[in-house]
Amino acid sequence: MIGIYIHIPFCKSKCPYCDFYSFKPDETQKDSYLKAVLRCLEEQKAQVKDTVDTVYFGGGTPSFFGGERIKAVLDCIKENYNLVAPEITVECNPSSASDEFFKVIAEAGVNRISMGMQSAVDSERKILGRLSKREETEKAIAFAKSHGIDNISLDIMLGVPNQTIESLDESIDFLLSSDIKHISAYMLKIEEGTPFYKMQSSFTLPDEDTVCEMYLHTVKRLSENGFMQYEISNFAKEGFESRHNLHYWRTEEYLGIGPSAHSFLNGKRFYFERDFNSFLTKPTIIYDGEGGSEEEFIMLSLRLSEGFSKEKFKKRFGKDPNEEIFKRAEVFEKNGLINITEDRISLTPEGFLLSNTIIGNLL
Ligand code: SF4
Repeated sequence: MIGIYIHIPFCKSKCPYCDFYSFKPDETQKDSYLKAVLRCLEEQKAQVKDTVDTVYFGGGTPSFFGGERIKAVLDCIKENYNLVAPEITVECNPSSASDEFFKVIAEAGVNRISMGMQSAVDSERKILGRLSKREETEKAIAFAKSHGIDNISLDIMLGVPNQTIESLDESIDFLLSSDIKHISAYMLKIEEGTPFYKMQSSFTLPDEDTVCEMYLHTVKRLSENGFMQYEISNFAKEGFESRHNLHYWRTEEYLGIGPSAHSFLNGKRFYFERDFNSFLTKPTIIYDGEGGSEEEFIMLSLRLSEGFSKEKFKKRFGKDPNEEIFKRAEVFEKNGLINITEDRISLTPEGFLLSNTIIGNLL
């Protein structure tokens, strides 16, 4: 089973913290992009021998691309790939998600929505440059449900300027009252080259300890309310984990279409150049080496709450993993950062906060 990722590089306006590849297009650019995606899907199909069980429209803002164009992409995938019982996700921004949009995509087969809300507090959303009001998120959820899409995920952000534990609680309360199935909680990272990077001195960010406290507070409140953590930043009601994202973390293969979209296919990693115009005329593929090494497998599985399993490693590589990893994990276990069983090593929520250091050390 593999996943297909379609990158939609369009946004109504650019949020000041964002370094994803996206820009404000005109309608002609949207149409040209649709043609290029369809062509690229047809060109790549010869490489894909496996069944496709997930499709994910990410971005950018796929809802801003429009329902009919999303439908056309899905029709093309259905025609050219072996699509079986798929999870089909579309990332939405409440400000560009109308009732009509959900009607069209639901009819096209979309069965999962991921909505970027970031905060339920208006003043925090304003700083983040998000255009929509809280009520628009509520409306978009209701529209999606009325067309039969009830597998809904909302994103929130931790460490936003001026955020406090109390204001975070307001966002968590909103999530818990929204009758959704999945939540992603990301920490704000100020990326070089973004407007936020230049503006840093003009706002007050919560300090690092407070952000860690926010993270652990979020994990606790969500798990008390039936959202189990299954990955560093992801929480779901039982059976509603993102099947598409699990492909990434379980080192399974996927095809990514669009400028900046990455693929792991037939053992190779590659991506399309981060350039809209070149994608329209002659997409340039940049090879990024072999994928699926032992190290990569261990590293990615430690992002998941299920952790790294000896048995799964053996099944995949035909040998036992180096026992040294389990020995190195002991010191972290003593500090409450790792759990160890006979078969597994998994990071605790406190361990997730130090995941780069711990994983680097284990490897
Ligand atoms: S809507 Fe999403 S992709 Fe677009 S600029 Fe904002 S954060 Fe980036």
